[in-house]
Formats: sequence, structure tokens, C-alpha cells
Amino acid sequence: MENKPIRILGIAGSLRRGLRNSMGWHCACCAQLITSVSEGWVEWLASEDDHGATVLSGLQLVHRESCRYDLRKVFRSGRSVVEGLSLERFVGPDGLILLLSLLAAGELSTAEVIELAKRVQIPGYELARNLIGQQNLPQVLRPSLGHGCYLQSEIAELIRPAMTDPSWRERRDSNPRPPA
Ligand SMILES: [Zn+2]
Repeated sequence: MENKPIRILGIAGSLRRGLRNSMGWHCACCAQLITSVSEGWVEWLASEDDHGATVLSGLQLVHRESCRYDLRKVFRSGRSVVEGLSLERFVGPDGLILLLSLLAAGELSTAEVIELAKRVQIPGYELARNLIGQQNLPQVLRPSLGHGCYLQSEIAELIRPAMTDPSWRERRDSNPRPPA
């Protein structure tokens, strides 16, 4: 088997058109794709526990204009305020160090920050997630590093069926597990 990683930006035109509907970030609110960095927004809820300590939760990536938390609703339901930053802040080396600083602070769920880091920092991960579904990924291929952390060669293997076989998506849609 060829182990050369597949470069997303190097996809041939016809295949790229075929995959176009899966390129972008899945919005946690409307489930449509966020197709450019400038359209994205990362937000979370901040509240206080019984001892007055800050509790952060609900980390999500959404459309900046239309899908953010409803400030009034979250305040009424959980006395939470919404904090957030543009998706632009999370990409590139400064985005990676921002994500690491969130992990170091330890206030947000580690699992949620790691998942966001994979989605915005690791080429092809979000595409694989969109094509296969986050829950289905380990059923299709177990990452050698474990913990849902896929190497680039493994991501290439995950998305190869969709890239090399145009009928894959149709078969995938009628069969929840894509062919190995
Ligand atoms: Zn949305």
C-alpha cells in the first residue's frame, strides 16, 4: 500500500469538486460547514461554582455571524456568560500556542481543547471527521498513537477511499461503515 500522505490542496480538480461538500469545519450549532477561517468563531461558557471559582464549559466552533450562543438564554439557564475568540486566533503557530495555553490553564475540558486543536491544526483531520464522522473514525482505523491522535499517513488512509473512488460517498451514505 502506498503510504505517501495525500495533500488536501493537491487534490485533482474533479475529486476536489467531489469532496467540496465535505471541506470546511462542521458548525456545532447548525451542522453546516464553516467554509473559511473568517466565518468561524470559537466560544465557551463561563460560570461560577458554589465557591465562586470560575468554571468553563461548552467549548464549540460555530459560524461567527449566525450560530453563536444566545447570551440571554445561557445567562438565564445557567448564569453563564459567553466568552469567545475568532477562529483566526486558533490557526497557525500562534493558534497552536493559544490552544496550548488553554490546556495549561486547565479550565476548559482537556478533551475538548485537544479535539479543537486537531480540527484546526492537523491537515486533513476535519475532512476525515466530516467524511466518516468523529465517532466512526476509530472503527475505520485505530490510530497507532492512540487517544484519537492520527498521523498524517493514517489520515490519508482514512480519506483515501473517498478521494480515489467517486462512488464511495454514495455507498457510504447507504452503508454507515465505509469499505476498508
Ligand atoms: Zn452554523
